[in-house]
Amino acid sequence: MNVHEYQARELLQKFDVATTRGKVALTVDEAEQIARELGDVGLVVKAQIHAGGRGKGTFRNGFKGGVHVRKTPAEVREVAAKMLGQILVTHQTGPAGRVVNKLLVAESAEIAREIYFAVLLDRATAAPIIVASTEGGVEIETVAAKFPEKIIREPIDPLAGLQPFQTRKLAKQLGFESSQLKNASKLFEGLYRTFIAFDCSMVEVNPLVVTSKGEVVALDVKFNFDDNALYRHRSTRSRSVKAWPQLYRTGWKHRLPGERRWSGHGDDGHHQVLRWRAR
Ligand code: ADP
Ligand code: MG
Repeated sequence: MNVHEYQARELLQKFDVATTRGKVALTVDEAEQIARELGDVGLVVKAQIHAGGRGKGTFRNGFKGGVHVRKTPAEVREVAAKMLGQILVTHQTGPAGRVVNKLLVAESAEIAREIYFAVLLDRATAAPIIVASTEGGVEIETVAAKFPEKIIREPIDPLAGLQPFQTRKLAKQLGFESSQLKNASKLFEGLYRTFIAFDCSMVEVNPLVVTSKGEVVALDVKFNFDDNALYRHRSTRSRSVKAWPQLYRTGWKHRLPGERRWSGHGDDGHHQVLRWRAR
């Protein structure tokens, strides 16, 4: 199962992961309105499809790019009109492409540096692992092929969770300056918590950026969920974001990281969730 970028961002915000301000638009009017509400800032318009490679994708109508930086609400409207209802083809969609029915309109970031950061379930050890690289903004497979030495791997003990010494180590390896270490560590911690709370098999941030002002922000995020655990997350299964705050409040605090995998399912998933909360 997948969620769109705009939904993933809402989840991350619950865990204090820094993202840019923004909202989803279904029409050109909404896109323009959101841009106005964001105020006098740089703007970005992003196609919401269940596939990556949007930035370098091309629409069937010939329009290039599923991610566009613009300056004014009028320009946002103009670019939204070229994207909404159109088919976007990226190297991840296959030749058929995907119809763009939603756009994320957000504040743009002045990017100084792009980093790759992901929390994955390492199938070999059945434990989480962080994979990161200073070479963000490109696909990790490409980095792995060209510069294998630039890929950092940090296995996590599922019982102990992500430890402060590990977040500090990662932040240093990723070249964060001392003034940014605290924010970077907080962001890594938030991503790890999100991963655990929602039974993700992957939380991938690409790029995680350092802005020209030195802020650390998750600009693009992709989640993969462990489908076997979906019964515990009725709200994510129904893709309703409204119920998520409740889920995370009752969820991750009461569950040890070692309890990722449950055996002995109840007859219906909801019953299982109640038992889990009661502990
Ligand atoms: P995809 O991975 O599907 O191509 P991204 O969200 O990673 O989509 O966007 C592609 C590129 O567009 C990013 O690597 C980044 O350089 C740029 N970008 C994305 N979001 C923003 C933003 N809010 N502000 C400025 N640039 C952005
Ligand atoms: Mg990306």
